[in-house]
Amino acid sequence: PVRVRFCPSPTGNPHVGLVRTALFNWAFARHHKGTLVFRIEDTDAARDSEESYLQLLDSLRWLGLDWDEGPETGGPHAPYRQSQRMDVYADVARRLREAGHAYECFCTTGELDERREAARAAGRPSGYDGHCRDLSAEQIDAYRREGREPIVRFRMPDEPITFTDLVRGELTFTPENVPDYGIVRANGAPLYTLVNPVDDALMEITHVLRGEDLLSSTPRQIALYRALAQIGVGNGTIPHFGHLPYVMGEGNKKLSKRDPQSSLNLYRERGFLPEGLLNYLALLGWSLAADRDIFTLDEMVAAFDITAVNANPARFDLKKAEAVNADHIRRLDLPAFIAACEPWLTAPFAPWAPEAFDRAAFDAIAPHAQTRLTVLSDITANVDFLFLDQPVEDEASWQKAMKEGSDALLRSVRANLADADWNAESLKAAVLAAGEEHGLKLGKAQAPLRVAVTGRTVGLPLFESLEVLGRDRTLQRVDAALA
Ligand code: GLU
Repeated sequence: PVRVRFCPSPTGNPHVGLVRTALFNWAFARHHKGTLVFRIEDTDAARDSEESYLQLLDSLRWLGLDWDEGPETGGPHAPYRQSQRMDVYADVARRLREAGHAYECFCTTGELDERREAARAAGRPSGYDGHCRDLSAEQIDAYRREGREPIVRFRMPDEPITFTDLVRGELTFTPENVPDYGIVRANGAPLYTLVNPVDDALMEITHVLRGEDLLSSTPRQIALYRALAQIGVGNGTIPHFGHLPYVMGEGNKKLSKRDPQSSLNLYRERGFLPEGLLNYLALLGWSLAADRDIFTLDEMVAAFDITAVNANPARFDLKKAEAVNADHIRRLDLPAFIAACEPWLTAPFAPWAPEAFDRAAFDAIAPHAQTRLTVLSDITANVDFLFLDQPVEDEASWQKAMKEGSDALLRSVRANLADADWNAESLKAAVLAAGEEHGLKLGKAQAPLRVAVTGRTVGLPLFESLEVLGRDRTLQRVDAALA
């Protein structure tokens, strides 16, 4: 049975790269009717925070990506927070040393740097040179008497490591390129290099799907798995690996955690639908079919194939993300759309007084908004003219629409509106007729009216908006603009 894991470190705010990794693991697990393990890699007390951990939980829940084993859910391999598993790692590190798979290394950073420089200068591989691999008991005693505190280093095998990456095909790493590496700090703290594969082994993970940035640690981990199997940690299976492509941001640079565009919270606050955002993130490396950009999570689960993921870097494109989200907004049925808008119809987003909100008016305008929004947060500015006493004052819009002759035009418009039946069709005819008197087409004829009534030059279809706003308030606003 398939067992995959999503194992972020709780540092900072969740970002889109992390969400894509979670999504691909989730889709893979669900496609294969397997198990998704959610594990928190919080062994770095200096960087990890409880706040960030809680945000991760909250984000996954908002996205709707559920897990089968993990924090709060529990499971056969609990606990799922590495900070609560320290005794496990200490025990495994000890057993690795006893079996000769790891050794104490007394080299100081200064010594390591010096030898690395010398190797570089001589054109030799500059990784760890194996200095402490086979120290005698006397040498070890001597180092201890000097007061040196050793780290624990894993002994890499002397032959190349080959594996078949599910995304990239067969890869081989030669020993010169994968030197012995640290697994426990001098102060006894276990490193990611140890705890991640140890937990994968103990939690019986069958597939590791993660970002390409971790590709270089894979040969090390495979060697460590083999050692773990020899000392009886886990059930001896070595997982398959699949490395997801880099995500590139502005200027073709890797999208980094520090890029504002990469923060998940930004998308939440702007009113992306979870399914819209996830659909877009799926496209960073995968697609349902060559001509299908828009799909549901169920469709993704049914079709997901990790071997179809493209190894080339994917480009993060905010405009495209918005377009995909807009599509998902249109797919909602009207009540679901109205419900999704709700957070933006009250403080702190909405600028109107709560009692000014008119449910019937909102429901009447909502269908026109649904076909136009790319993000839900835009709903506020699109409907505020209905609930504010006066339209927002936007100097730039006013300048743009109120030109020479606007007053005369607006007077004709007002006269025709005053007599019109109050429905969108008649209102349009009224404005058209007023425009003709001034030799103007509809677009130009309605521009000052739109600004007078809504305060903006762009917005929802004008005549439907006027119909909902009502005759009295419309005429009052036109009068105020003419005053
Ligand atoms: N905690 C690691 C990270 O967030 C997990 C890497 C992995 O999937 O192996 O980068």
